[in-house]
Amino acid sequence: MSIIQPCNQQILNRNDKQMKYRNFGNTGWEVSALSFGCMRLCDNQEYNTNLISKSIDAGVNYFETTRYYLEGQCQHRTAPGLVGRGDSLIVSGKDGINPDKTAYLFRKEIERQLDILGLSHFKFFQVGWFSWEMMPHLLKQGGVLDAIRQAKAEGLIQCVGFTGHDTPENFIKCIETGLFDSITVPYNLINRSYEPTIARAGELGVGVVAMCPVAGGVLSCESDRLKEALGMDLPTTEMAFQFVLANPNVSTACSGMNTLEQLEQNVKTVNNFDPELNNFGEMCEGLDKLRAELGDRFCTSCRYCMPCPQDIDIPHYMNLYREWKVFGLTDSVAERVRAIGKDKSAVRCTDCGECEDKCPNTLSVREVLREMESLR
Ligand code: SF4
Ligand code: SF4
Repeated sequence: MSIIQPCNQQILNRNDKQMKYRNFGNTGWEVSALSFGCMRLCDNQEYNTNLISKSIDAGVNYFETTRYYLEGQCQHRTAPGLVGRGDSLIVSGKDGINPDKTAYLFRKEIERQLDILGLSHFKFFQVGWFSWEMMPHLLKQGGVLDAIRQAKAEGLIQCVGFTGHDTPENFIKCIETGLFDSITVPYNLINRSYEPTIARAGELGVGVVAMCPVAGGVLSCESDRLKEALGMDLPTTEMAFQFVLANPNVSTACSGMNTLEQLEQNVKTVNNFDPELNNFGEMCEGLDKLRAELGDRFCTSCRYCMPCPQDIDIPHYMNLYREWKVFGLTDSVAERVRAIGKDKSAVRCTDCGECEDKCPNTLSVREVLREMESLR
């Protein structure tokens, strides 16, 4: 489906003094290495408009939106900041796919989102909440693919990507269909599960939008372990961006920003990125070593231990334990342990041992829970 239409030659917004640019797969576009996820905009419209306008001034040229974020307000909050500049930007819209989605409904949604954003066309439109299982609903006669083809023929959309949650292997199968120009997946220092998918996307010329480069703020506290593993003496947020961009197959790191301070810091960090100084292979090696310290005794989030009779979310605790022990993110982990309500807290554990009997990795769940609660 990857086609380069003449209008793709439109000059995209850029500011080479402040921003780096990378190929966006085979689309022919150069996308800003920092892109703007609009799902965290605040309810102060004047502030949002200024924030978006400042990001465009700094050279950001990719904005990810959908009508469904922020209780239906995401695109309304984005639109005023795009006025008069939309043609030089890649603004991405998104609609979900499900068994009941028809070409008619998908088309209506494209039109509705264009209307809200005040755009004549989408340079990118995403098939959202996608998975390999949804493929028949994409391909069926009168289904989503028919709507995409028609919208492309009419110039309402130019390129198509997808986002969703599925296994890395299934997402590889999705991009191998040749139907998509980009893939949007979470990717950061502590979540590298889609690394094989990203590598395959690179081979196929499919653009990669890396979501959650700072893991939704988790990677904002100091970590000596990460500094040592990556051989950098930088704040964790900066190391997080450097890592994502060190992956040569990532087209852009998409950050959900809502303050001018975040924008300024992220622009600076991305502009400081130097591929010569950030060797992706060495960084991966450092991270692999950290992870190896937990050996086989690693929670795979299989959830076989659930449900716990005391309603404790064991995989959540195990995940926090990993972030604490492997990545040294103590402050962020402690904050999230404190945020777990009393009704779900590990202090409720009665020591019944059911979880450990069911755990295929023979993890000492009870010991971990006790240790975690010491952080409260
Ligand atoms: S040992 Fe504790 S955590 Fe495990 S199942 Fe029993 S109550 Fe739940
Ligand atoms: S069963 Fe074991 S590996 Fe699976 S989620 Fe529970 S603790 Fe983790």
